[in-house]
Amino acid sequence: MTNTPVPYSAIVEARRRIDGLVLKTPLCFSPTLSELAGNPVHIKFEHHQVSGSFKPRGAANAILCLDTEAKKRGVTGASTGNHGRGLAHAARQAGIRCVICMSTLVPANKVEGIKALGAEVRIVGASQDDAQVEAERLVHEDGMVMIPPFDHPAVIAGQGTLGLEILDQCVDVSTIVAPLSGGGLISGIALATKTNRKEIRIIGVSMTRGAAMHASQKAGKPVKVEELATIADSLGGGIGLDNAFTFKMVRDLVDGIVLLSEDEIMQGIDHAYWNEGEVVEGAGAAAIGAMVAKRMDVSGPTVLVASGKNIDMKLHHRIISGERISI
Ligand SMILES: *Cc1c(COP(=O)(O)O)cnc(C)c1O
Repeated sequence: MTNTPVPYSAIVEARRRIDGLVLKTPLCFSPTLSELAGNPVHIKFEHHQVSGSFKPRGAANAILCLDTEAKKRGVTGASTGNHGRGLAHAARQAGIRCVICMSTLVPANKVEGIKALGAEVRIVGASQDDAQVEAERLVHEDGMVMIPPFDHPAVIAGQGTLGLEILDQCVDVSTIVAPLSGGGLISGIALATKTNRKEIRIIGVSMTRGAAMHASQKAGKPVKVEELATIADSLGGGIGLDNAFTFKMVRDLVDGIVLLSEDEIMQGIDHAYWNEGEVVEGAGAAAIGAMVAKRMDVSGPTVLVASGKNIDMKLHHRIISGERISI
């Protein structure tokens, strides 16, 4: 891979840097999905990762790339979801201060979840935008470092370590299917795997409701899309109109994007539970859902990335009991 905005060597360095701080998650063969696809299908159990998603890979790498002075001042962010959890976890592992800013609307269980991972929580304002302003104030006034969720070279390189693991665990992998939101995960995986074997196909899966990266690729530049509620809540949000890395990497390295309906995502959650015995969240079930709904042609050994498990368990219970929920 030449001309990528993040070099392959950054992923190899990230793997060494975060070794011991994140888990090497299992790759599990799925008999039922293999039967369905007519090809061997494996699931990368990244929902077993510490903090419940792959996010600590990128967060830990970004933190460890900071110089001593920056580490002393600590890191901040305004994500209440998996990035906030991953950042909190990685900061505690590295022994540095972490402040996650949230609005008063954030439910108490999310606040407690992030506190339990060792971060300070600052509750400000009535919207996520207000929380973002507070995080920016901490950067400007206290010198804290903002670690963004996807559009950052050290974050992309950290997520790419997941791709190196897939190559180790499935040497003849031919297609990799991963969920796609801001594109940090899929950019890292695509760079890691295609550098070693350029014939590997990479497919991204987003939800129909508010797929910002898909709309941006179609437009040929980063565009804003209306944010809609979705069962795959970890895939919501824009890619940033000033996107510097992931827009180009997805354009150059990803072979196709599949958009799933809410029902297809719930089928993925169902399949993971009833056939694989696994609890995964909506975003985490996207690749499985795309396979179950036969939304892509695969040939050869295929790896589906299950990216996270952080779902409200009462909601999960309703879905696997057959209820079809519109958010
Ligand atoms: C963040 C996240 C994604 C999307 O990752 P991007 O790097 O933004 O594309 C997918 N699944 C889960 C569970 C996540 O937390």
